[in-house]
This record gives sequence, C-alpha cells and structure tokens, in this order.
Amino acid sequence: MKAVRFHEHGGPEVLRVEEVLDPALGDDDVLVRVRSCALNHFDIDLRENLSRWPLPLPWILGLEFAGDVASVGRNVRGLSEGERVWVLHELPCLVCEHCLAGEDNLCLAAQMWSVQKPGGYAEYVAAPARAVFPLPDSISYDEAAAGQIVFTTAWHMLVTRGRITAGDTVLVSAAGSGVGHAALQVAKLAGATVIATAGSDEKLTSARADGADHTINYNRDQVTATALELTGGRGVELVVEHVGGEQFGSCLGALRKNGRLVTCGGHAGEVVDFDIVPFFRNEWQVIGSRTGTTKEVRLVMDLIAAGSLHPRVHAALSLEDAAEAHRILENREHFGKLVLNP
Ligand SMILES: [Zn+2]
Repeated sequence: MKAVRFHEHGGPEVLRVEEVLDPALGDDDVLVRVRSCALNHFDIDLRENLSRWPLPLPWILGLEFAGDVASVGRNVRGLSEGERVWVLHELPCLVCEHCLAGEDNLCLAAQMWSVQKPGGYAEYVAAPARAVFPLPDSISYDEAAAGQIVFTTAWHMLVTRGRITAGDTVLVSAAGSGVGHAALQVAKLAGATVIATAGSDEKLTSARADGADHTINYNRDQVTATALELTGGRGVELVVEHVGGEQFGSCLGALRKNGRLVTCGGHAGEVVDFDIVPFFRNEWQVIGSRTGTTKEVRLVMDLIAAGSLHPRVHAALSLEDAAEAHRILENREHFGKLVLNP
C-alpha cells in the first residue's frame, strides 16, 4: 500500500510517499481502506520530535480517519466489507482505574494512532473492531475525520470540565483553529453568548458565520480590555484557551470573579507568566482538559450526523501533498481542518 512516512525528524520535507507492506489483519481486527485522515498540530510535534512521545522510525502519522471496511478478521461480527466506518482516535485499555471510573480519556495504557500505532496517512489501517463504528450517510469521510478530535475536545472542555450553562458568556481563544471553531459551535449549542478571538479579520468573519456574537482581532486589539468592555466590565464566565503564550494571560484577565479558564494546549508557548494575586483574589479557576471520553466521542459524532455540529474542512489534499498540508498548518493559513485523501 501507499503511505506517508518519515525516516528522520525534521521539517515538512521529511514526509515521503512510499510503498510499504499492508498492515497484518488479526482475528479481532477490521482492515479499513482510509478515505480521509485529518491533520492535527500534534502531527507537527511528532514530526519534529517535540511531542515528548518517543517514536520508532520510519513512522506513519495520522490520528483520526474514516473510510470503508476492506475486510474483517474471523472473530468480527456486525461489520461487513464495503461498509462506511469511522475509527476511534485512541483505544482505552478498559481495565485501569480511570477506564473503570468512566474517565477513559485519562487511561493509563491507551493506544493512540500515530503514537503507539502507525496512523492514517496510508491507504489501509488494521484497527481492532471495538474501535470501528458505522459512519452515517449524512457525514462525509472528510467531516468524520475532521470532526472527531476537535469536537470531542471542545465538548469535554466546555461541558464536562467548564460546566457551561445557558446564558454564560464564553471567550473562545483562536476561533479560527480546529479546536476554536468547534468550541464556538458547542458554546452556541449550549446557549452561551460567544466572544471569539482570532489573528485576522478573515478568520473573524468566518467565526461570525459560525455564530460568534462578538469578535476580537488579537493582533490589533487587547483581548482583556476588549472582553471586559464587551461585558460591561464584568468579565466572562468561561474561557476556552488552547494557544498558550501571551494569549493565556490575556484571556485569563477577561474572567469575571469566580470564572473558569479551561486549557488544552500551548503551541504559542508552553510556559506562561502567571500572576498569583488576581488569581486568588478573584477566585479564578484554571482547569486542564485532555480530549474526551469514548462516550463523548460517540455523542459528538451523533451530533455531527444530526447536523447540530458542523466540522469545517479547509482543504482536502492527496497523500503526495502531505508536506504541503503540514506547511499550511504550520503557517496558520487555514480556518478549520486539513485532511488527506489517500
Ligand atoms: Zn485504561
């Protein structure tokens, strides 16, 4: 089969299309013919060796994908050849204390595609049948690949960790990104007023199309001051932050007393300045969040199928254009997700 691999860590140019062996199919596995695989910023970290995860080389990236069943192992029931499917991006162990507690996003022995198992930048992937789910006709392959992680992450941040309620005002940082545009939609679905930030007016126009009530261009206007002005000096109940760097502090300052900031990323700076005094005087809460549970993944895929959430695909490229897709992602030229169609 064809797959995109890299033999050494480095820039986008290390990604090469190669002929590799088809994956071996176990008795409990489904061989998935990949039709669409989404890119994540995490792919760049893995490629550059900045992820803090060791990888065997050469390696195949690709965390989330959808396609057709090419064949099934002898023990597999309920899935048949030719069926459209999507694949869970991470396989929890189902037996550790966190899995047993229903918080399988914190599993102690999870297997993630493109980290513990070669990923979906390939024509075929062999996946355990318990990770493979039928894909409703109302979702395209690209939407299924593009929607899984960002909407699950956004749902877990806003609903589970952030305890959003109808009537809240929510500040969504970098609403042009994958997680940002998903968080904007989940916040609107939950009945919140949304203030969206982005680095260009073009991205803010798209954010308004996705339902943002107010927008802030963080390259032109100060986020804290503008958000306070928009809320009559009161501040927002909840911040969705996933950028880090200077944006972390700017967003934190926009919180009302007893407000909550939920964070799931820090690509613009993983170590930030943190002033403890306003933090305790205002009883702010800073809450970590990591993707979401299997239950939440299935819920958001149902909501996408029902048309309540809309994955935005910026562009679909071929495997041969994987390096170009990484460049677009690194240069932040996209609004929504990039996908590869093997
Ligand atoms: Zn577990």
